[in-house]
Amino acid sequence: MRLFPRRRPTPTPTPAPQATPQTWTPEGTTVTQRYLGLAGATVLVYSSGSLYFAASCLGCTYQAATDQELREAKAAELANAHAAQCRALPRGVPERPDDATAATIVRTRVRELQRYVDERHFTLDDFLADRVYLQRGRDWILAALIDLAEREPQVLKVTVGRPSESGNTYTYLTALPRQSCTTTSDWR
Ligand SMILES: [Zn+2]
Repeated sequence: MRLFPRRRPTPTPTPAPQATPQTWTPEGTTVTQRYLGLAGATVLVYSSGSLYFAASCLGCTYQAATDQELREAKAAELANAHAAQCRALPRGVPERPDDATAATIVRTRVRELQRYVDERHFTLDDFLADRVYLQRGRDWILAALIDLAEREPQVLKVTVGRPSESGNTYTYLTALPRQSCTTTSDWR
């Protein structure tokens, strides 16, 4: 007969509280309104600190964002209209991507912002729709843009303005024209 040493029962670790779509706020944003879809999916209305808002459904792929320069009332109207006809089941909270995946989301957005012939100035508000999946704050996104501009100077230019009297620095983001790219091999 084998004798087993008496062990203290191992305490069951308390699971970390899980964010639910009903309470979850994407990192770096403020959720001001939530709407409930027909089958329980949550539609968020959120901003990242500027005047503009986005609407994003956590059940399906529906998004409305700043290329339409949405103010809160309009974003809420779109979110409500979407919730009234969205039959998607809740998908839970999107998983937070690792840094490399998040950098790819930033790069994909910049590529989409590029025009064929002209330069295009943009701001961090152009990433508002991405925030639900990006889950990064403004500083992280800006650092990713600076890194991208260093690695792919034919795609993006980042200019940090001189400090003004108020001490603020200004960052100018410019997506460069696609036709300035001399090689097509890296187009994806
Ligand atoms: Zn939906």
